Amino acid sequence: MDDKGELIEQVLDRYDTRFNPSRSGWQSIQCPNEDGHANGDKNPSCRLNLTLGLVKCNACELVGDGYNVVMTIEGVDFKGAKQQLGSVYEKVESDWLI
Ligand SMILES: [Zn+2]
Repeated sequence: MDDKGELIEQVLDRYDTRFNPSRSGWQSIQCPNEDGHANGDKNPSCRLNLTLGLVKCNACELVGDGYNVVMTIEGVDFKGAKQQLGSVYEKVESDWLI
């Protein structure tokens, strides 16, 4: 959970954002923040760095780590983002138990 790369992967999966999980350094992805783009982000303007666990969109305000992504998209504060991500991790853990 402290691993920022793992966190951002979980968050992007949650928003069905495609990325290359084996790529280090920066890669272009379609922005998960659909509301920040009037007609969708057709020409990927978001940059992702799995090593740093960070995204930065050049076309909307989305920037930061997995928590920032959830905060921006869901319009919640850090506590709210933590709660939402907590449920993601609980789900993963319960899958492991089966
Ligand atoms: Zn964007």
